Amino acid sequence: MSYLAYLGLGANLGQPQQQLSWVISQLAELPQCQLVAVSRLYSSKPALGSPENQPDYTNAVVSVTTMLTPHQLLQLLQAIENQAGRVRVERWGARILDLDILLYAQDEIKTAELTVPHVELCHRSFVVLPLLDICPTLALPNGTKIASLATATGSDDIHVTADNTWWQTPSQPPP
Ligand code: ATP
Ligand code: MG
Ligand code: MG
Repeated sequence: MSYLAYLGLGANLGQPQQQLSWVISQLAELPQCQLVAVSRLYSSKPALGSPENQPDYTNAVVSVTTMLTPHQLLQLLQAIENQAGRVRVERWGARILDLDILLYAQDEIKTAELTVPHVELCHRSFVVLPLLDICPTLALPNGTKIASLATATGSDDIHVTADNTWWQTPSQPPP
């Protein structure tokens, strides 16, 4: 069986757009995974309550179909984070790459390693807005329409920085 999952991509250190483009190429090579859609690229201020003096965040959302279980998928996403050089210093601190599972089919999961839907999904415009880019009719397992969250999360401090072809530009300039 193959399941549709939505993944959140974020970065605010290094060259965020390049790192996220590289992630797309890595996702395309994951076993038993197929890239379905990529959102536009967004820039936003660090969330209130996170460590201060961080650069702005770059975020996007992608959907994939996968035969991996949610925990297998999480492990592979963490391997990609590690490969990108992610170092965990402080919670919600600046990072070179963050890959989160936002939704996995209509599953509701609560284990020590994994909460799906992502616990903050409903409160983050940098997740809600790109989700709507790729699936305007999307709903949570409890029936809540993602579109109904768009106004609640607000959109003051977030803007689109590139259309949904951003990841097709080479991550390294040609020689
Ligand atoms: P936030 O969860 O608020 O977005 P974060 O992404 O910065 O914070 P991380 O440091 O990337 O948090 O991950 C901390 C732990 O969260 C991971 O070790 C992972 O086991 C756990 N986790 C729980 N649910 C999820 C999920 N849906 N996607 C990714 N990681 C998750
Ligand atoms: Mg996160
Ligand atoms: Mg994370």
